Amino acid sequence: MTARNFTILGGGIAGLAAARTLCDAGHAVTVLEAAPRAGGRVASERVDGFTLDRGFQIYLSAYPEGRRFLDLKALDLKAFMPGALVWNGARAATIAHPLREPLAALSGVVHGIVPPADALRMLPFARAALRGPSDAPGAPGTSALERLRAAGISARTIDLFFRSFFGGVFFDRSLETDASRLDFLLRMFAEGFACVPSRGMGEIAAQMERNARGARIRTGARVERLEGRTAVLASGERVESDGVVIATDADGLRALVPGLPAIHWCGTLSAWFATPDPAELPSWLVLNGSGRGAFNHGAAMTSVAPSYGAAGQGLFVANTAFLPRDFHTSADVAEDMRRTLAQILGARATSGWRLLAVQRIERAIPRQWTDDVAVRAPHELGERVFVAGDHVEDASINGAMRSGRLAAERLMASFA
Ligand SMILES: Cc1cc2nc3c(=O)[nH]c(=O)nc-3n(C[C@H](O)[C@H](O)[C@H](O)COP(=O)(O)OP(=O)(O)OC[C@H]3O[C@@H](n4cnc5c(N)ncnc54)[C@H](O)[C@@H]3O)c2cc1C
Repeated sequence: MTARNFTILGGGIAGLAAARTLCDAGHAVTVLEAAPRAGGRVASERVDGFTLDRGFQIYLSAYPEGRRFLDLKALDLKAFMPGALVWNGARAATIAHPLREPLAALSGVVHGIVPPADALRMLPFARAALRGPSDAPGAPGTSALERLRAAGISARTIDLFFRSFFGGVFFDRSLETDASRLDFLLRMFAEGFACVPSRGMGEIAAQMERNARGARIRTGARVERLEGRTAVLASGERVESDGVVIATDADGLRALVPGLPAIHWCGTLSAWFATPDPAELPSWLVLNGSGRGAFNHGAAMTSVAPSYGAAGQGLFVANTAFLPRDFHTSADVAEDMRRTLAQILGARATSGWRLLAVQRIERAIPRQWTDDVAVRAPHELGERVFVAGDHVEDASINGAMRSGRLAAERLMASFA
């Protein structure tokens, strides 16, 4: 094999997966990353000793690409309970995964927030998920809403549970997201756990960076334009190579390659609270199934991973399923969410909460409606110029890794 010299534009999870794949095959790789750090949208920061991720993000232990690229043991993953505490506007009850926590799954029925007929239908629906796609979402075609209706699940349970649960995953409560995404995620939830690394989600990016052994990762290196396989930096420096992977986000790609159709982004707002008494916090994901108020989903991070906390205090993150525009300030949104949480969790659990940070994330993930998924950027843009990024696979850490690996494999195959 001839060792070649490759350039990767963008050092997010997709770019790092491409770098690792090419380095492992013995090639010389340079990653040009515009930001001061690699990792892209997966990051954590420390605020007053607390660990705050970039928005509420979780890692699914069943992600197939994660098994290739990550040392899961070293991440020291901490798992959420498989289900959620769901509020219907009057009371809250747990709706657990029927295959993972069958007894807790009945709690929603017992508390009268899930009709018994729906509870019965969710069992075969969950079983069917185990026969769903195991390596990546299948072909697009129908919406998640249509899939749920076809399974016979009532509008009441769709509104109560599925809109808030998958609204939190897709940052879109419409459930117009393509059903292939739903099928794949249902299988991931059936086969594994939703987790966070004990040192924060940023540890996933840090490990990916460490594991891209041998790649030269240049941060603060924004690529202004691409001339064939030559990347031109803002300084005028020209980086030439035998092949290129463009692993920027979707907007970065469109800036470098004009003429591609624009994409729709889904945004979110996350408010992080320090809480005086961690023992008062729930260990389940909390969902607002009432459809009222800005709060959609949230979690007591310290109930899952105590190391996210500081000075004996707990940490709660509250999130919207959209980017709010009808409030004066982000602090208003945070306060609105805290008030809703006081109704769900009770005044005692939510008293003395201190707002640590509010994150407005305009471009969280590309929208994945059936029409969006059908018009993707091509995998190859010119001779030995390939495309990676969550916008060409599914919008997730797994999709980003897969896109990077496939782009690197296509690039190497182009020399065969
Ligand atoms: C709030 C939030 C919640 C999420 N929740 C989850 C979750 O729970 N589970 C899950 O699996 N996924 C989740 N995701 C999605 C996941 O984080 C992304 O799909 C994934 O990180 C995308 O990786 P990427 O490499 O494709 O893109 P990015 O991370 O966007 O990386 C692209 C990189 O390219 C760089 N770049 C752009 N233009 C240029 C240029 N001209 N020159 C050089 N560099 C450039 C950027 O600086 C960036 O570092 C979430 C994302 C967000 C924001």
